Amino acid sequence: MTPAPTFRIAAPSRGKPPRHFADMTNEERAKAVRDAGHTSFRAKQLATHYFTHLTADPDDMTDLPAASRDALVKALFPPLLSPAFEVATDDGETVKTLWSLHDGVKVESVLMGYPDRATLCVTSQAGCGMACPFCATGQMGLTRNLSAAEIIEQARLAARACRDGALGGKPRRLSNIVFMGMGEPLANYNAVLRAVRTFLAPEPEGLGLAARHITVSTVGLVPAIDRLAGEGLQVTLALSLHAPDDELRSELVPINTTWSVDQALDATKRYFDATGRRVSIEYALIRDINDHAWRADLLAEKLAKRGHSWVHVNPIPLNPTPGSKWTASEPAVEREFIHRLEEHAIPATIRDTRGSDIDGACGQLAIKETS
Ligand code: SAH
Repeated sequence: MTPAPTFRIAAPSRGKPPRHFADMTNEERAKAVRDAGHTSFRAKQLATHYFTHLTADPDDMTDLPAASRDALVKALFPPLLSPAFEVATDDGETVKTLWSLHDGVKVESVLMGYPDRATLCVTSQAGCGMACPFCATGQMGLTRNLSAAEIIEQARLAARACRDGALGGKPRRLSNIVFMGMGEPLANYNAVLRAVRTFLAPEPEGLGLAARHITVSTVGLVPAIDRLAGEGLQVTLALSLHAPDDELRSELVPINTTWSVDQALDATKRYFDATGRRVSIEYALIRDINDHAWRADLLAEKLAKRGHSWVHVNPIPLNPTPGSKWTASEPAVEREFIHRLEEHAIPATIRDTRGSDIDGACGQLAIKETS
């Protein structure tokens, strides 16, 4: 018998990361600058350095008074992330970075270049409390939530790396951000929302990304999905479903014992109704576990019952994780799964598994002592 899976939504409370310029609203930035004895105009200059020039180095800020530059930067831009290890693959088009946070906690993010876009897979929590047994991060447990600025710093540093040719040597522009790194973004709601709003805010107040280029992926925390639907944002929502029936999903995604398949699907449909954004359903195909033709049919029926053109299925062959007894489905089984969905007029595309050779693909992010 499988032991009952455990999960936790609330993060352990630990020492908070120092408050950073990127944690603040515009008004708070202006106030922080005034409190430091400067005119609030300096806040705009600092924002331009940080979000447009992508720098937090006082030496780059030559338009600020030399006498106070260092002190201002020290007060408002405490170092939050330092790179501890970096590894590239896919001809330099996939780069995974291990970051050390202010308290020594480690997290990873993955940057991926494609012909038409550059995507950052961002981390929202150190570890994860959702305990999905096929996901390496899920096996780590939850260490702590990241602050908004710790999430934004991942994006600022990725945008700078793109600009400076980190992907295949060519200068690129960071265009997409997916909350598919470590953690359950909707269990760290406030920090994630502040980060999303900052990604969307036009330069120099934020990174100026398009809402449709931001994806928030969730195990299906229903009240948080509804809250997100009410934010008036056009971000893409992805639901990690992995099984259309409660019996299996409760084993693969333990939170299912709190919010069932139908409750999660109803919430994603409400998200579509509120935002007009097509929802993605993620489905890791696990050999002989969830890849049966009848499960494809059941999935298609459950989606089609709620309407058409509101949803898109993204099956992904399972990426192997250490100690797991599960493997990816056979390609023929994968094709049949997609075919069944398409027969019910449910669009489906296999997601690529970038970075699997560097443990950088979906579900493989876990901190190894050696890295
Ligand atoms: N906690 C969020 C976001 C992080 S994971 C969520 O679960 O949606 C991003 C995606 O990778 C999720 O769909 C997750 O289920 C999937 N995933 C996890 N482990 C995987 C694995 N071993 N192979 C393929 N996909 C995996």
